[in-house]
Amino acid sequence: MTKQQSILGLLPEELTGLVKERHFPAYRAKQILGWIYKKNIFCLLEMPNLPQDFCKALAGFLKVLSLTCVKKHVSAQDKTIKYVFKTEDGNFLESVFIPQKGRFTVCLSSQAGCSFNCAFCASGSRGYKRNLTVAEIINQLLWIKKEHSNNKITNIVFMGMGEPLANYESVLKAIKIFNHPDTLCFGARRITISTCGLAPEISRLIKENLQVELSISLHAANDKLRDKLMPVNKIYPLRDLIAAAREYTKVTHRVVTFEYVLISGINDREQDAQELIRLLRTLKCKINLIPFNETENMQFRRVSPAQLNVFKDTLMKNGLKCTLRRSRGEDILAACGQLRLQLESAKNKAVTCNL
Ligand code: SAH
Repeated sequence: MTKQQSILGLLPEELTGLVKERHFPAYRAKQILGWIYKKNIFCLLEMPNLPQDFCKALAGFLKVLSLTCVKKHVSAQDKTIKYVFKTEDGNFLESVFIPQKGRFTVCLSSQAGCSFNCAFCASGSRGYKRNLTVAEIINQLLWIKKEHSNNKITNIVFMGMGEPLANYESVLKAIKIFNHPDTLCFGARRITISTCGLAPEISRLIKENLQVELSISLHAANDKLRDKLMPVNKIYPLRDLIAAAREYTKVTHRVVTFEYVLISGINDREQDAQELIRLLRTLKCKINLIPFNETENMQFRRVSPAQLNVFKDTLMKNGLKCTLRRSRGEDILAACGQLRLQLESAKNKAVTCNL
């Protein structure tokens, strides 16, 4: 039997091509996409108003979902919900639903595991498995969208597990599909790509002429510290990264966001703030300060609230635009990779579905 391909990996034009190849009218593709993306129906044989022979013919080689949701954790603190999905080849990945006043953000993973080994991040601690497919990326969003069908998803952020710019083609294709009028018509301006700093891919992204938001995980303002916290800095040091960010703001006229996770005694001192000011003061940018989410087996500690305020005030007094991201879902291990880590270390234990 041939392996079924997931419709979620296809641009509407590609699905139309497959439908026409089988001598069915092109408008049938649009109908299917309407059921999937607008009505959250994920079984080809359950789509009303489509002829049975057509549905059966398509179901022979196409399917919708490829991920299974194996766990769901709801934060008692702030109603953030973390989902763990399992791929068909047995990898785990995580996505998060974040409700905030009037906003509903979904945080997506782009890879199973991560190869960049940031010292403070749980995503890479079990190694890198593989890039996610376009269908697996879209599957995460659609599953969560169906669960929250009363609330319209307002924002998508690629801040889950993995490095989105290391899975460039699939992430961009997924964004083009989200964007398409026959699917979700989801505006690129409401989609954020977060990168650990792949300078060449940032330059490549500039040429795409997309309206996506770019976030750069900085976390240190000198190469010595950044080399330690984020080994990717040895390949693309700050000089290259800041040059790519500057080019991005010049060509796109957009503001770039720098994420800065504050870790007690490591990057939260006065001298760190001063270095950050020197590095970024001539850039069209915003800094998002994030208190470190403490992880098991990690020596790092979260910045104190007092130090966080001192750090923020120093940046703001020196003219840097600064926001403070409240950590979400700490009680459910919502920082990158934390829940997957817990699941995988429960060796051989059956993973149950909590849905
Ligand atoms: N690879 C991409 C996207 C995934 S990480 C990137 O590096 O940007 C999303 C954000 O969460 C990054 O800024 C990352 O540095 C941060 N992060 C990872 N572990 C964290 C933790 N324990 N506490 C707070 N933020 C964390």
